[in-house]
Amino acid sequence: MARKVLVLEDESSIRGFIVINLTRAGYEVIEAETGEEALEKLKENPDIRVALFDIMLPGIDGFEVCRRVRATNTRIGIIMLTARSQEMDKVTGLMTGADDYVTKPFSPAELTARVDALFRRAGGAVAEQAGEIYQEPFLLNTRNRTLEKNGQRVKLTQVEYSIMKMFMENPGKALSREEILDMVWGRDYFGELKIVDVNIRRLRLKIEDNAQNPTFINTVWGYGYKWGF
Ligand code: CA
Repeated sequence: MARKVLVLEDESSIRGFIVINLTRAGYEVIEAETGEEALEKLKENPDIRVALFDIMLPGIDGFEVCRRVRATNTRIGIIMLTARSQEMDKVTGLMTGADDYVTKPFSPAELTARVDALFRRAGGAVAEQAGEIYQEPFLLNTRNRTLEKNGQRVKLTQVEYSIMKMFMENPGKALSREEILDMVWGRDYFGELKIVDVNIRRLRLKIEDNAQNPTFINTVWGYGYKWGF
């Protein structure tokens, strides 16, 4: 099975560093220097499972690339490459549909761990047990990795799907943010707990009747989240 990753980065030294390390980790790396080129390469290689997008680029920026890719592809895992000064950009990037971000400068181990985690989420390694979980009004199909609410399809990213599955398999149980991070992103994940909150905020917008007053994903203050009542 192809382990294809796309790297969009205009600075050739950084791109080279990423390519060398991901190649060493067993990935087939496809490179792009501009957002436009990245969109083209993604079209040519529909089997790319994970994409890394730099934000500051000469043409369209990484956020716009992310937005355009996400509009038609919910399966691909997307990691934004951010600079230290872009704290707010991180959050914005996640809200436009990215699954994760890595802050430059990053170590090879950190980068590889992030890509590995998303690759698993994107259905690269683990075969799902076929079946369905039904909890009114939600139907989760673990074969197609899809979610319906009242019979209507809800478009989820792979990370959002994994969070939904975790909740529906643990109804009524308070889950700490650390547990959620472990279950959804994997134990070897290096990231910050904030990524849990950002993804859940986005998931609420998709599945709650009123995201301001959520009834399905409930906040357990100072701890984490709970599915249901
Ligand atoms: Ca750049």
